[in-house]
Amino acid sequence: MEILKRIRQFISFDNAGEDVANDLITLIRIISMILGVWYAFLSVFCFVQSILKFGIMFAVTAAFIIAVIALTFYSDDNTFLLSLFGIVVGVSSFIFARNVGWACEFQIFVLLYSLLIWYDSQKNRRIKSIMSILSVIVILMTFIFCRADVIDNVIINMNTNSYAYIGMVNIAIFALCMCLIAFSFSAQFLSTEHKLYLYNKKLKQMAGMDPLTQLLNRRAATEEINEIVEKYAANGESMSIAIGDIDFFKKVNDTYGHDAGDYVLKSLAMMFSETMKNDGFVARWGGEEFLFVFRSMNGDEAMLVLNDLRSRIEKTEMVFNSVVFNVTMTFGLDEYSTSHGVEGTIKSADNKLYMGKEGGRNRVVF
Ligand code: GH3
Ligand code: MG
Ligand code: MG
Repeated sequence: MEILKRIRQFISFDNAGEDVANDLITLIRIISMILGVWYAFLSVFCFVQSILKFGIMFAVTAAFIIAVIALTFYSDDNTFLLSLFGIVVGVSSFIFARNVGWACEFQIFVLLYSLLIWYDSQKNRRIKSIMSILSVIVILMTFIFCRADVIDNVIINMNTNSYAYIGMVNIAIFALCMCLIAFSFSAQFLSTEHKLYLYNKKLKQMAGMDPLTQLLNRRAATEEINEIVEKYAANGESMSIAIGDIDFFKKVNDTYGHDAGDYVLKSLAMMFSETMKNDGFVARWGGEEFLFVFRSMNGDEAMLVLNDLRSRIEKTEMVFNSVVFNVTMTFGLDEYSTSHGVEGTIKSADNKLYMGKEGGRNRVVF
């Protein structure tokens, strides 16, 4: 049992991180181990039988295959490992088919490469198709080199009584069909992977977005601020943060209905996005509270933008179900400083918002 556990650990050992591409390395390792054991056995068998020439050939091949296995522990370059595997298996299969005999079917191992290539996520499909067909050609070449009798009989002497050429066509057809199946599997896999990627992207977007206003939600906004701090503010560029809150919003809901309240939130959100599109971003921070982040702007510059926005909000007529009304907003603004940090700046903006509410609303406090 312990030995089985050891073998499993050995096979599944990965030198790279968690990703799909590691499947290929594991596969190359397992298949190489099977071939290595088989060739080592054949080598011992030939030495025992005193067939020195074959014994050495099998031993050398087994050594090359062990080298491939060893490399799978040190390199995560799939294309390199696969090419090496292809060369070792291709060359050895050709030599054995020619020396030991076509009837021993060593040439069939070349097809392992044409199947494995479809696992390589780093190659495009055209290269994979070409490599697959190339390995079929290698088998056909092996046939031509090894079956001189067929070539003499069928091609040179036009002896149609010999059916051996059917074997050659069969191999070609079988190999091509096998490549087709691999191609189809690979296409299916890639399409599923792509769908999953798009789905994940959509989920991530949805997770960071407020469904009512289509603005970033609090979680996504926090991430975004940290990114801006890393990119700009850390290099000494200014950044200002404001929190805006709709005045007497409860009254809007109570007077015109909850749907009218939602309509106000959506209309204002569109206005904010338009205002902030070149200056930073806006997020829905809470129920009727919005967070404004001004990239590369000091407090005075942000104050101008906010005051202009505040005055436009005041003048905008909200029309819902033929009822017309106006809303106002109060803003608290502060400039980011490293000593304050992001949290400190937001807290200070929040305090100023409170002061604005206390002072009579519909104003920007900096
Ligand atoms: P103040 O000027 O002091 O901010 O007064 P206010 O009425 O705006 O503040 P208050 O905190 O008392 O009320 C906020 C209201 O916002 C209460 C809540 O029902 C409403 N609200 C929060 N989220 C939504 C929403 O998604 N849709 C609607 N329609 N209303 C919301
Ligand atoms: Mg309010
Ligand atoms: Mg509020």
